[in-house]
Amino acid sequence: MLSVERALQLVLAQARPLLPREVLAAESLGCVLAQAIVSDIDSPPHDKSIVDGYALFAASAEQPGVELAILEEVTAGAVPTRTVELGSATRIMTGAPIPAGADAVVMVEQTELASDRVRILQAPIRPGQNIIRRAASLVKGQTVLAAGKRLRGIEMGLLAEVGRTSIAVVPRPRLAVLATGNELVEPGQRPGPSQIRNSNGPLLQALAAEAGAVPVDLGIARDDPADLRVKIERGLAEDVLVLSGGVSAGVLDLVPQALAELGVEQVFHKVNLKPGKPLWFGVKRHDDGRQTLVFGLPGNPVSGLVCFELFVRSAIQALSGREPIGLPRVAAVLTCEHHQRGERPTYWPALLAGESVTPLAWQGSGDLRTLSEANCLAHFPAGDRVFHKGEFIFAFVFNG
Ligand code: AMP
Ligand code: MG
Repeated sequence: MLSVERALQLVLAQARPLLPREVLAAESLGCVLAQAIVSDIDSPPHDKSIVDGYALFAASAEQPGVELAILEEVTAGAVPTRTVELGSATRIMTGAPIPAGADAVVMVEQTELASDRVRILQAPIRPGQNIIRRAASLVKGQTVLAAGKRLRGIEMGLLAEVGRTSIAVVPRPRLAVLATGNELVEPGQRPGPSQIRNSNGPLLQALAAEAGAVPVDLGIARDDPADLRVKIERGLAEDVLVLSGGVSAGVLDLVPQALAELGVEQVFHKVNLKPGKPLWFGVKRHDDGRQTLVFGLPGNPVSGLVCFELFVRSAIQALSGREPIGLPRVAAVLTCEHHQRGERPTYWPALLAGESVTPLAWQGSGDLRTLSEANCLAHFPAGDRVFHKGEFIFAFVFNG
């Protein structure tokens, strides 16, 4: 059976960045920039004061206590009209342009009003003090962001500063989620005998959104070839289709067959891991050159989550033009003994606190309640072995 590492290689071999598209800057948070951004302005646009105070000619105040005539008051957004000369000063606010003739600003705290004049308490004054020069942070024509940069809040501010309201980015992949199973009812319904609510649909859509994709809800398909066909076809319109359920060895596990009939090429079925062994992965190559990555996740919620975190998250990152690093991995110290059995590496819901990790008393792969106490998956390599308290293991840490 395929190892996790090899299966991930096979997924990533199919996951090329999507073609760049022009989007509103306001909708680009988290996307990767597909063009260089050049400044259309100098910033600041003029020499400006970085404090509230008095703009003057430094040579006017060679010793403390000099009194200067006040010419005018300039606030941020206003334009000075008077030239400062020896013996005069302009009241100036933070961000306002430095008036002609002035070469320094004295903070208001270093001054006193003396009737209609200002007394300067600081001396001597260093020419240039409290002034930031035009274009100190940005020069018109300068590249401020390179293609490949992932856009965060800081970059939203910078794009606005240089006047960019639309930009070319690698778009967010659209990811359709289809839950399959005759036993499923919608979350708003009360399950009848032998029914359960579709928790995987909301779970996988939320994980997809958090990983940077745009989730598309395809609802529930019954374990019926015709229903599966119609809903899978809808999913094949998107960049990624994630199915839950129907990929194991049961008589109603019809998903691989349905995918094959719709021309989805199987890349692999089954991976050596626990939980999540039945994972199915394939690609639909469309006539127009587009392709859809298709993941058939096992129906058990924890299995589905593990497969999402190990494979789908990395695929989303790759399609988004990002480094496909999956979840961050940390080394942590076990707080208790743990018995690992069997030939499959195990990803066990666990609680990471500082550098310590505690595997949770997980009741099998349907146990979402215990999973909600977890903030990571503890990794135990294959083989029968007791892991002792104090040993280091790796943990894959959930976001947020
Ligand atoms: P399957 O992979 O279809 O054999 O399903 C395995 C287990 O996961 C069964 O116990 C299902 O009832 C459960 N399951 C399947 N789909 C869902 C779902 N959408 N939400 C919650 N549990 C599910
Ligand atoms: Mg099923």
